[in-house]
Amino acid sequence: MRAVIMAGGKGTRLLTFTRNQIPKPMAPVCGKPILQWQIECLKANSITEICIITGHLGETIQEYFGTGDFFGVSIQYFHENIPLGTAGAIAHIASFIKNENFLLVFGDTIFDIDIERMLSYHKKKNSSITLFVHPNSHPVDSDIVILDDNKKVIKIDSKNNIRKYWYNNIVNAGLYLISSKVIEDVPKSGKIDLEKDIISKKIEKNDEIYGYLSTEYIKDAGTIERISQIELDIFSGVVSAKNLLKKQKCIFLDRDGTINLDKGLIYKPDDLILEHTAVDAIKKINHSSYLAIVITNQPSVARGLCDIEDIQEIHRKLCTLLGQDGAFIDDIQFCPHHPDRGYPGENLEYKIPCQCRKPSIEMITRSAQAWNIDLSQSWIIGDTTVDIQTGKNAGLKTVLVKTGQAGLDGKFTASPDRVCKNILDAVNTILQGETS
Ligand SMILES: [Zn+2]
Repeated sequence: MRAVIMAGGKGTRLLTFTRNQIPKPMAPVCGKPILQWQIECLKANSITEICIITGHLGETIQEYFGTGDFFGVSIQYFHENIPLGTAGAIAHIASFIKNENFLLVFGDTIFDIDIERMLSYHKKKNSSITLFVHPNSHPVDSDIVILDDNKKVIKIDSKNNIRKYWYNNIVNAGLYLISSKVIEDVPKSGKIDLEKDIISKKIEKNDEIYGYLSTEYIKDAGTIERISQIELDIFSGVVSAKNLLKKQKCIFLDRDGTINLDKGLIYKPDDLILEHTAVDAIKKINHSSYLAIVITNQPSVARGLCDIEDIQEIHRKLCTLLGQDGAFIDDIQFCPHHPDRGYPGENLEYKIPCQCRKPSIEMITRSAQAWNIDLSQSWIIGDTTVDIQTGKNAGLKTVLVKTGQAGLDGKFTASPDRVCKNILDAVNTILQGETS
C-alpha cells in the first residue's frame, strides 16, 4: 500500500515555531519534524512508497527529505502552485496511487498505529473511505463523526456547529484509507475539500463510508500547547505503548457509584451526575498508558424501565460531560440483562441468565479481545463487592472506592487489593504504583 501526505498547510497557529520559514509539517517535535515522525511510522508499517503534497514553503520539505533514501523510503512530490484544498491534489496523482487502496495522512498529526489492522477492517467492510476515529480530549472543537451500529458514517457534525444534544466522543483524526476508485469522483480543477466535497456527498448518497475506532495514539500538533503535550507523551512512552500491536493495560471502571453518583437504577439522562473527582481521574488515565473502559450492569432494561437506546443516550451524556472537561472513555460495555423473572412490566427478552452480567466476566474478555489487553497488568475500580469479585474472576487487580455503595452491598466476601476514598484516589494509587 502507498501513502499520500498532505503537507501544504500554512500553520498560522504555529508561527512562533515556524517563523514563516518552514511549513507546519516541518515544525519540530522532540527535535524532529512532524513529517519525519510520520514517515518513520509508515516505514515501520512497511509503507515505503510515499507521495508528499507540498504547498507554501514546500521546497524546505523537499530539501530535507529528498528522494527519501536516507529514511529508507521512496518519496515523490506534488507541488500545489495554488492551494487545491485538502483533496484537490488527489486527482493529479492517480498514476502514483494506481488501482489500490491508499492511506491519506494530514501532515500535522503525530501517530503510532498498526495500519495493517485498519486495512483489514477497511477490506472487511468493503469500504470506499474509512476514517480513523477516536475519542479525544477536545471533542467540543473537533468534528464529531456519528456512526450507526455497523460503524457506517451517518453524519459528520462540524466543529463550527452548536451542539444541543448529547454525543459520543468520536472524532475524525485526519487519517484515511481510501479506495482508488474514489479518485474518479475528485474534480480535476479548483479547491476541493475532502470532508465537505467528497466525504459528505458520499454520505448523502449512502455510500460505503466507515469509521475505524481505535484507542491508538494520534494527535493533531496544530498548536504549541498540543506539541508540548505530545512531547511529554513521547518521553513517557505513551505514544508507542498505545500501538495495538502491543499488549495494552487497562483500568476497567464501574459506572454508578464510581464515575457518577449512585442514584439507584439510572434509566434517564437527567439522573446521571458525575462524581466530583471523576473528570480529573479519567483525565489522568487518558494521559497514562492505560485504557479507560467502563463496564456496567444496567438491569433497568430487563426490568422494563427503559430500552437499549435510553442506556446509549445516558452514555452519550457521560461522554459529552467528560469531553467538555477534557476527559474520555476508550470504550463502554454494558449488560442489559437480569436473570430473575416475575416482576411487573419486565422485558422478557432481557430477563435471561447471561455471561456478561458482573461478576461474570464477558464484558472484560470482550474488551481484552477487542483491544489486545493483558488482564494481568490491568485493574478494576468499583464501589461494590460485585466489582471486586468480577476483578478476581478475570485476574485483575482490584480497588474498592468508598463512594456509592462503598462496598457495603454484602453480596460477596472477596477483599480488594486496595481501598481508596474515590475514583481519583484510586487512579492516583494505581499510577503511583507504576512509578515506584
Ligand atoms: Zn448480560
